[in-house]
Amino acid sequence: MSETKRVYTFGNGKAEGKADMKNLLGGKGANLAEMNLIGVPVPPGFTITTDVCTEYYDLGKDKVVELLKPEVEKAIAGVEELMKSKFGDIENPLLVSVRSGARASMPGMMDTILNLGLNDTVVEGMIRKTGNARFAWDSYRRFVQMYGDVVLGMKPVNKNDIDPFEEIIEHVKEEKGVELDTQLSVEDLKELVAKFKAAVKKQTGKDFPESAYEQLWGAICSVFDSWMNDRAILYRKMEGIPAEWGTAVNVQAMVFGNMGDTSATGVCFSRDAATGEDQFVGEYLINAQGEDVVAGIRTPQQITKIGSQRWSELAGISDAERVAKYPSMEEAMPEIYQELDALQTKLENHYKDMQDMEFTVQEGKLWFLQTRNGKRTGAAMVKIAMDMYHQGMIDEKAAILRIEPNKLDELLHPIFDKAALKNAQVIAKGLAASPGAATGKIVFNADDAAEWAQRGEKVIMVRVETSPEDLAGMAAAQGILTARGGMTSHAAVVARGMGKCCVSGAGTLKIDYAAKTMEVDKLTLKEGDYISLNGSTGDIYLGQVATKEAELDADFAEIMKLSDKYAKLAVRTNADTPADAGIARKFGAVGIGLCRTEHMFFEGDKIKAMREMILAETEEGRKAALAKILPYQQADFEGIFEAMEGCPVTVRLLDPPLHEFVPHDEKGQQEMAEAMHLPLKSIQQRVASLHEANPMLGHRGCRLGNTFPEITEMQTRAILGAALALKKRGVKAVPEIMVPLTGILYEFLEQEKIIRATAKQLFEETGDSIDYKVGTMIEIPRAALTANRIASAAEFFSFGTNDLTQMTFGYSRDDIASFLPIYLEKKILKQDPFQVLDRNGVGQLVKMATEKGREVRPDLKVGICGEHGGEPSSVEYCHMVGLNYVSCSPFRVPIARLSAAQAAIKNA
Ligand code: ADP
Ligand code: MG
Ligand code: MG
Repeated sequence: MSETKRVYTFGNGKAEGKADMKNLLGGKGANLAEMNLIGVPVPPGFTITTDVCTEYYDLGKDKVVELLKPEVEKAIAGVEELMKSKFGDIENPLLVSVRSGARASMPGMMDTILNLGLNDTVVEGMIRKTGNARFAWDSYRRFVQMYGDVVLGMKPVNKNDIDPFEEIIEHVKEEKGVELDTQLSVEDLKELVAKFKAAVKKQTGKDFPESAYEQLWGAICSVFDSWMNDRAILYRKMEGIPAEWGTAVNVQAMVFGNMGDTSATGVCFSRDAATGEDQFVGEYLINAQGEDVVAGIRTPQQITKIGSQRWSELAGISDAERVAKYPSMEEAMPEIYQELDALQTKLENHYKDMQDMEFTVQEGKLWFLQTRNGKRTGAAMVKIAMDMYHQGMIDEKAAILRIEPNKLDELLHPIFDKAALKNAQVIAKGLAASPGAATGKIVFNADDAAEWAQRGEKVIMVRVETSPEDLAGMAAAQGILTARGGMTSHAAVVARGMGKCCVSGAGTLKIDYAAKTMEVDKLTLKEGDYISLNGSTGDIYLGQVATKEAELDADFAEIMKLSDKYAKLAVRTNADTPADAGIARKFGAVGIGLCRTEHMFFEGDKIKAMREMILAETEEGRKAALAKILPYQQADFEGIFEAMEGCPVTVRLLDPPLHEFVPHDEKGQQEMAEAMHLPLKSIQQRVASLHEANPMLGHRGCRLGNTFPEITEMQTRAILGAALALKKRGVKAVPEIMVPLTGILYEFLEQEKIIRATAKQLFEETGDSIDYKVGTMIEIPRAALTANRIASAAEFFSFGTNDLTQMTFGYSRDDIASFLPIYLEKKILKQDPFQVLDRNGVGQLVKMATEKGREVRPDLKVGICGEHGGEPSSVEYCHMVGLNYVSCSPFRVPIARLSAAQAAIKNA
């Protein structure tokens, strides 16, 4: 039996792992190993694999600790040797950090513990070793605080309570009359540690662990536990990360940014994550540790001079003041800066992608603690991919694959109307943390944000700073505004990941959670008042500001052009109005794959004519009623054909169940009775007779056209009449008439007969003609099963995968809410099949029907027009089974175009 390797070591330019081992080592662990291998300075340590996390949940804590023990102790010994110190030793102690690290980065989602290995005697050893009592006690109090919070569960009891340790700190600061943590003396810090420990004892009934190994095992297990905490679960849900992946645990020798003025810690990006600009950016703090930069406790300073100048301009600070009080690292630590800049360039060139990095400077020596491909906004994603392509770092295909299709969505949505902005009052400015335009009512906490959004309100979540607990609120809000924290604060990073507008660090805001007010200058805003945020400039406006359509730049146009070069699938749109058709054309749709005609019957007076038609007792009566609708429909089609500029337009004949058209309220029934000179009672009887127990499986689709052929006749006249009218005006139209809900060949043949006869008659009447096609939706499993028969008559297929999914699974789309969430949670279903095409079931029908259809009609044009047509994985499947096109809503067209290109590249 081969032994499972559970621990991978790294350090001193060597590593057992490497970058492509993310699945096993997590992103952080794999990159720590890789950085060692390419000569980036990284403190030594080791990674416990993600498989162990799975074992932890299968076998339990005790068993896993037993299994891990020999390897962990050996790895610690290795780190001890490299660091020339000893874990738990009193004279020459080694301290470590214990860090989580999943395959996909989950910023701030799971818990990290720093300075582990300290206790009351070791801290004295640290003082002797470093000669720096303040540093040793500061590290110790941070450790007790983090360990208490993460491992021992020292959380606030109620949601409005402040953190128990923060409460103690505030108390001590007040007693000593100081404002900043850095002003606390050694004695104060000692007092804090004692008070922290007493609080732990009081709240948990247990003593704080003294033994280094006991601390270590507690921390390792708590990282595994944190994989299943609420915020990690929520984050995985939002990002679609499976729970089975597990997290790795990284144990690493500590390096200290809090050893005085030649020490520092920071976070940086090799390019701007908000705009994509090719400019090194980052923030740092002198004499600080780890999370201080992101936590927003102190205002971090910029790393580069140019960044610092931009920052001071925004903050309204003079350059003299900036240099004196907030110098950039480039100015304050020029040598370290040079080294940092060289290494960030090296890492970007190595990974060939924008890097998000963490570093610490200990007494003038630079260490890297993390690198990963940085999260970015949709705009930055496109710009960085295209810049790297133009810079020759990546090729065309890589550039296309760099774009996350769904993230393009951010670029397509509205921005503030420039005219409206002119009159808008700027009440404050913050950092442009995540672009976009947002308008909504102020709420001051995540619960309220979620609750208000639930009832349909648009809200802006305003916080002093955000923490991972605020995730659900951030997701529900239109935008996020914080008073503290920089470009790398939690709010900024998470908002960019979500593609949500965020303005952070608006220092002039005074937020009072208890009173639910926000004060700026002399203005006081309450909960429920409107504000607007511009996440691209950092401006905060009073009231609602109008928005308008987004403007797409040259990079966007170029990536779309590149996509078209590789894509095999054409992309059409689902559009029912000229306006939607116009938007879709602008986004590059090359046709309409689904033009629904329902609304053409429901709007205004048309519904009355339609009701007359249904209620009429004779064919003449029905024809007379439909004749009233005909001109409206023809005009609608003219508008749509014209907007599509000669591209094919697939028009679906009337589809919804008949009973939806009749009046169900007495007022409406009375109206019909009067209009048709019939007694109310007979109208009511007719309505009752049309009632269906199961309308989705009832009198709808081509069953309507086959029971009321006059409808099909009228629609054919409207469609072809429109095309002929345009032809007269020199405008090209390419109509494709689509019969809905075919299940049996003869259903289709009946409809086709009516369509062809009507067309013939119309062409004779007008003395003109036009090319058109007659095809069908494939949305009933029987149609898919008999596709070869149907293709003998139908000239094209379009898979209506909404109904096809509904009927293949036997799930009513309107009723799934009661069981789908549970199915997803229990993993009975991996995905909602109405969102992501079910390849194994519904997909098989699509594949088979396409093949069967093409057996009898090799040039059969096949497309898909369900919601799936704009969903990347479904688009890929459509490519794989050889469809001709996908059709999706106008705003998804660019996403589908890119997905089609990616599918072609990946499946080449
Ligand atoms: P997260 O996943 O939340 O970023 P990390 O594990 O990266 O958590 O750690 C949190 C902070 O602590 C980061 O700023 C990181 O750079 C710092 N840190 C982690 N390990 C060490 C270490 N061994 N020495 C110094 N700083 C560390
Ligand atoms: Mg963390
Ligand atoms: Mg980190």
